[in-house]
Amino acid sequence: MNDTQRADKPSLAPETRIVIHGTANPADHGAASPPIYLSTTFAYAAPDVPRDFDYSRMANPTRDQLGAALADLEGGAGAVITASGMAAIDLLINGLEAGDLIVAPHDCYGGTGSLLRARAARGQIRVNFIDLDQPDAVAEALAHKPRLLLIETPSNPLMRIVDIAALADQARSVGAKVAVDNTFLTPALQNPLALGADYVIHSTTKFINGHSDVVGGAVVAGQPAEFERFRAWASLTGAIASPFDSWLTLRGVRTLFARMERQQANAHAIARFLNSHPAVAKVYYPGLECHPHYALAQRQQRGAGAMLSFELNTDAAGISRMLAALKLFTLAKSLGGVESLIAHPASMTHAEMGKELRANAGIHDNLLRLSVGMEAAVDLIADLERGLSLC
Ligand SMILES: *Cc1c(COP(=O)(O)O)cnc(C)c1O
Repeated sequence: MNDTQRADKPSLAPETRIVIHGTANPADHGAASPPIYLSTTFAYAAPDVPRDFDYSRMANPTRDQLGAALADLEGGAGAVITASGMAAIDLLINGLEAGDLIVAPHDCYGGTGSLLRARAARGQIRVNFIDLDQPDAVAEALAHKPRLLLIETPSNPLMRIVDIAALADQARSVGAKVAVDNTFLTPALQNPLALGADYVIHSTTKFINGHSDVVGGAVVAGQPAEFERFRAWASLTGAIASPFDSWLTLRGVRTLFARMERQQANAHAIARFLNSHPAVAKVYYPGLECHPHYALAQRQQRGAGAMLSFELNTDAAGISRMLAALKLFTLAKSLGGVESLIAHPASMTHAEMGKELRANAGIHDNLLRLSVGMEAAVDLIADLERGLSLC
């Protein structure tokens, strides 16, 4: 049985489809690990008869195999694999006309905000940053007939959840397309296209690849014509992923479901531990019943994910003492790898935002963010306990 026949089986669960994707293909000698096609160019059968591939900026077998895998997981018509998550956001912008209005969350990923502002400053687009959790703000923003509504849920770093289906309905009623950045939950835990979104974007750098060794991104389109349009733009601008990065990401994504399951279980255990610790003022994790959007998260997601943040009852010196004491949580930006990371948003991931915007978004100086990895929960909790005892 070849890969297409195997993967086409609708009866197979996504956990199964992603493991067998691209494997045991007769055209690849039945290789259990799909080969990597580094070739930049491919022979024509005759001058006017190209084969399936002709030049790797346009299409490459390894990159396309990753695109097919992500499109399958997200339930999309196709996925364009980009050089980074930022290139995926930029590809979305390329799909717009000059002067089109984008509505984006005021607490969106920092790079996304900077890119939208930079493109708006040059007059290429218009952008309106709003709190997607405020119905009045959403209604007011949509009244200006945006072309695109960008959603990020859960948000970074406060894990705020917004209702994708409800926002998609509202956006559709004014003719706006909806893109959801699904980087934090991945298709293992949330499927925005099934909730009414038009596009899903990913920084595959994070959970999709999962091993902190590739920077990459993806745009998944629900409709074939839109996929072709994004694909044409990506070949024009050349913001595509290399075959090697694509191959590594294919290798990483095979274990996505198992990683998410374990990392999420660890995150849950840590959230409960932090929530009962006297040094901790507040925990932001959608899997805790005290989370303001707990019910929505239960409905919209198949799990709470492996990201959480918390506020400490201490000052900057206390936070420094705690961070210095940790042995298992690496002090670093980024997220989604098998190893646990800790970040101080005010001085690291959200430093560029400035104090005032941070305060508006509720990102205080005593906030720490965790990307929980696959280590034993008991070790991670002991590490945090040691740190907390010093703050
Ligand atoms: C990291 C990230 C991005 C940007 O992706 P890169 O791969 O770093 O370019 C966009 N959105 C979210 C939510 C992210 O976490």
